Amino acid sequence: MSLPSNMQALVYHGPGKKEWTSAPVPTIRNPTDAIIRVTRTTICGTDLHILKGDVPEVTPGRILGHEGVGVVESVGDAVSNFKPGDRVLLSCITSCGKCGYCKQQMYSHCADGGWILGHLIDGTQAEYVRIPHADNSMYPIPEGADEEALVMLSDILPTGFEIGVLYGQVKPGDVVAIVGAGPVGMAALLTARFYSPARIIMIDLDDNRLSMAKTFGATDTLNSGQGDPVQAVLDMTEDGVDVAIEAVGVPPTFDICQKIVRPGGHIANVGVHGTKVDLEIQDLWSRNVTITTGLVNTNTTPMLLKTVQSGTVSPDQLITHRFGFEDFMKAYDVFANAGEEKALKVIISNSPT
Ligand code: NAD
Ligand code: ZN
Repeated sequence: MSLPSNMQALVYHGPGKKEWTSAPVPTIRNPTDAIIRVTRTTICGTDLHILKGDVPEVTPGRILGHEGVGVVESVGDAVSNFKPGDRVLLSCITSCGKCGYCKQQMYSHCADGGWILGHLIDGTQAEYVRIPHADNSMYPIPEGADEEALVMLSDILPTGFEIGVLYGQVKPGDVVAIVGAGPVGMAALLTARFYSPARIIMIDLDDNRLSMAKTFGATDTLNSGQGDPVQAVLDMTEDGVDVAIEAVGVPPTFDICQKIVRPGGHIANVGVHGTKVDLEIQDLWSRNVTITTGLVNTNTTPMLLKTVQSGTVSPDQLITHRFGFEDFMKAYDVFANAGEEKALKVIISNSPT
C-alpha cells in the first residue's frame, strides 16, 4: 500500500510560531530507516522551550515531537528487527548501536544520533515520521499493551529513572527528595519506588502537583514557596536526605539539593540548566557527596517496558488530558497552561481508540 504524499503535522515556524498544517510525508532516505504512522504522541516541556526560541538549532520548518507510538509502514533494506504492520514504541533517542558510545549504552552520545527527533530532524507530532537506525531506536509493543502508557516510555520514564533514580543510587530504606513535581520528577517518583525507599519527599511550588504526587506514592510533600524548604527538610530528617533529585533546572532548586543532602549522599541532577549554578564546594567537599548529571540514554527502555507490562509501574497515571490530532493546537494551549489546567501529560491520538 502506498502512502499519501501529504500529511498533517505540527510545524515550528520560528520563536512563538507553530502551526498544525500540511507537510510532505517522509520517505526512506537510508537503508536503516523506517517510516512509522504515528498513532499517539505527546508534548514535552522541551517543545515549549523550542517554541520560546531557547533551542536555536531547531530551524523554522521543523516538525516537533520526540515521543510516541505507532505502526510500521515501511522499512529500509537494512532494517531486520521490524516489518510493516508492527506496532512500535519510538525512543526520544536515536542510536546506531554500533559506535563507541552506543557500545557503552550511552545512546544519547551516539555518533550518528542522540536527541535528534523534533530537534535536528522532523519529529513525531505528525501523521508519519521517519526513524533513522530503526533497529536500535524503536521497541516492539507487546500484544495487548496500553499504548497510552507506553508513550511515557519514549522520554520521561527513562529520564526520571536513569538520570534521577539510577544515577542517584536509590536504595531500600533511603530518604529521597525530588525537587520538581513535573512529569520528569513524577517519573522519578514512580520508578524510585522499585527500590522501596523509606520516604519520598516531593518539593514543588504547585500544590495541585504536590497532591498528585501523594497519590503516586510520595510520603511527604513540601511547597518550597512557603517558608524555608531547606530547613523544613532538615527538620523532617535526621541529617538530610540520602538522595536529592533535581528535576527543575534552575539555580534555586539545585541549591536546595546541595543543602539537604546528608554526608555520603547523592545529588542527581536531571534538570536542563540554562545558566550556571553556585556550587557550594566549601561545604560539600568534606561530606563525601556524589553529584551526577546526564542526558537520558534510554538504555533502560526494555526493562521499563517489562515493568509496565507486569503492572509494577503504571505511567498512565501521569496522563491528565486526551485530544485527537485535529485538536493539536488546543493540546498545546492546555499543556502550556499546565498550572491552571492541572495538566501533567497530554496524549494526542490519531486512532479512534
Ligand atoms: P516541568 O516544567 O513540567 O516541571 C518542572 C516543575 O518544577 C514544575 O512542576 C514547577 O512547578 C516546578 N518548579 C519550578 N520552579 C521551582 C522552584 N523554584 N522550586 C520548586 N519547584 C519548582 O518540567 P519536566 O518536563 O518535568 O522536566 C523537568 C526538567 O527535566 C526540565 O529541566 C527538563 O528540561 C529536564 N529534562 C531532562 C532530561 C535529561 O535527559 N536530563 C530529559 C528530559 C527533561
Ligand atoms: Zn551510535
